[in-house]
Amino acid sequence: MFGAIRLGDDIDDFCIKCKRLSNHAIVALIEERPAKVRCLSCYSDHAFLAGIAPPKKETVKKPKPPAAEAPSPDAVVLEASPTEPLPLNVPPEA
Ligand SMILES: [Zn+2]
Repeated sequence: MFGAIRLGDDIDDFCIKCKRLSNHAIVALIEERPAKVRCLSCYSDHAFLAGIAPPKKETVKKPKPPAAEAPSPDAVVLEASPTEPLPLNVPPEA
């Protein structure tokens, strides 16, 4: 098992400021697991990452395209012939 983890314990984690694995001190625990750590190199606090570098965040959020989705083929047929009946003399395909 892990053994008791206590506040202030040293733990290795990925520092989001140093961008590398470094020594951290545990500053918050949730259910005996590190929740927040402080980098002992730059003294910044951040959520415990379990040593895993977070994915590169996209700084620019792409705006969602306008909701002009292409209508389904059925909708096109209905709009194209609102009153005329569908042609019935179409030869059946082989
Ligand atoms: Zn750091």
